[in-house]
Amino acid sequence: MSFPRNFDFHCHSTVSDGLLPPADVVARAAARGVSHLALTDHDDIDGLAAARQAAAELDLVFVNGVEISIEWENHPIHLVGLGFDAQYPALLAGLAAVRSGRVERARRMGEAFAAIGIPGVFEGAMRHAGNPLLISRAHFARHLVEIGLFKEPRQVFEHYLVPGKPGYVEHRWASLADALDWIHAAGGVAVLAHPARYKIGSAQMRRFLSEFKARGGQAIEVVSGSHTADQVLHYARLARHFGFYASRGSDFHGAEESYVDLGALPPLPEDLLPVWRLLDC
Ligand code: AMP
Ligand code: MN
Ligand code: MN
Ligand code: MN
Repeated sequence: MSFPRNFDFHCHSTVSDGLLPPADVVARAAARGVSHLALTDHDDIDGLAAARQAAAELDLVFVNGVEISIEWENHPIHLVGLGFDAQYPALLAGLAAVRSGRVERARRMGEAFAAIGIPGVFEGAMRHAGNPLLISRAHFARHLVEIGLFKEPRQVFEHYLVPGKPGYVEHRWASLADALDWIHAAGGVAVLAHPARYKIGSAQMRRFLSEFKARGGQAIEVVSGSHTADQVLHYARLARHFGFYASRGSDFHGAEESYVDLGALPPLPEDLLPVWRLLDC
């Protein structure tokens, strides 16, 4: 294993809405100094076997991961599951159920774009999806860039695809209770992904954290590629207050589309208990 230890427990491949195949994500992580990696594709664990094999060849410690889309009090929220048994039937069935809603949602998104005079968006987004079952808003954003509406996917999310804007459709994701059951039954650890990204006030966030903790959630991402330095400090305080372990993940999707590259995150605040203590690494 390379030294010093550099953990990245949140990133994506073409199995969901990342830009690199699983083995290439691992190779990039290794080249950039990551020593311990979890691949956490949205709602799908099909990339884990290839990623694990690539990691073994590059002497990188690999941890099974997934980022599950849930809803809580009508807010879309993401949970990262780590260190689970990737053959566990209830987890596989749960993820299949979450995925099955995505294609129908994507069709409705396409209809919403057609209604405002932009045809062919479903088909266009699908062409960007490495895994057609895992069509995501990121693929829609790439298509809208490709047809010249915007320069970068990031700009698309300022005008489209978000609540109140064209192309957003309501969707029923998994419940918090179900997603935690799948992760825990499969022997994994549940982590709240990028807590600063949700449109949730501080009292509601505390309520979420209380419920997450009461249901067995053990960690939150304190250091995330999408967190500012102040947000890191804020969620470090909440981790201490609630007794959560802390995770660290870039949320890397590709060199062109990420907040921060693999291996380039700041360290966890030193007094926090790192989530890797729960994962034997
Ligand atoms: P979905 O799971 O289909 O709702 O899509 C969510 C994905 O869209 C996220 O995982 C990101 O990859 C992408 N995304 C969401 N919001 C933004 C944003 N503001 N800028 C860039 N990408 C975004
Ligand atoms: Mn994504
Ligand atoms: Mn996410
Ligand atoms: Mn993510």
